[in-house]
Amino acid sequence: MVDMRIEDARKMVIQASLTILQKGLIVGSWGNISLKIEKDCFAITPSGRNYDKMKLDDIVIINADGKKMMGERTPSSETKMHMAIYAANPRFKAIVHTHSTYATAVAAMRKPIPPLVEDMAHISGGMINVAPYAISGSEELAANAVAAMGDSNAVLLANHGAVSCGKTLEEALTVAELVEKSAQIYCITASMGGGFLLDEKNIKTIRNFYKDHYSKRQAGKEL
Ligand SMILES: [Zn+2]
Repeated sequence: MVDMRIEDARKMVIQASLTILQKGLIVGSWGNISLKIEKDCFAITPSGRNYDKMKLDDIVIINADGKKMMGERTPSSETKMHMAIYAANPRFKAIVHTHSTYATAVAAMRKPIPPLVEDMAHISGGMINVAPYAISGSEELAANAVAAMGDSNAVLLANHGAVSCGKTLEEALTVAELVEKSAQIYCITASMGGGFLLDEKNIKTIRNFYKDHYSKRQAGKEL
């Protein structure tokens, strides 16, 4: 019998993959997306498969032990990182890993994105930190990403890209776009002599408003 939760998750992951491709947040088959199905089980994009050619069976289902339960292909090489982020952050149900241009440029500088604009403060609560470099697919990279993310919804990976998380796949996609936009604003303001940072008190207020109300309104759970 077909488990509709699994099939629905696979459809959502494929749709989200096409979205990040169309928005220019990834190219080819790089980057990856996962979506939790239940407590210790999630759907994830396969390794090295172009997003515009993916079929439902290509999306791999991973169990609590990190083993492949279903799917014909090899799971994303960053599966360990997705597992580590879910384990450390039970609040997250979806992860979008992108190699978008400006976020990756800042990550290659090994600098955090500073809190210059309010929408970024909503999703980060301050800096978007950069995790120290470790080769892609390694347990070291997974640990570095978890440690650098802290309470934020996003983190940069040095010389690599960005990781964006959410309570829903929709939220994780929005975070991925906001990370890229924030990195772009950082680069533009830096080229003009540098912008003014939001102060910590206001950032805290903005972050709490996002957690308590704004993200719920976006998800249709508050009027
Ligand atoms: Zn990557």
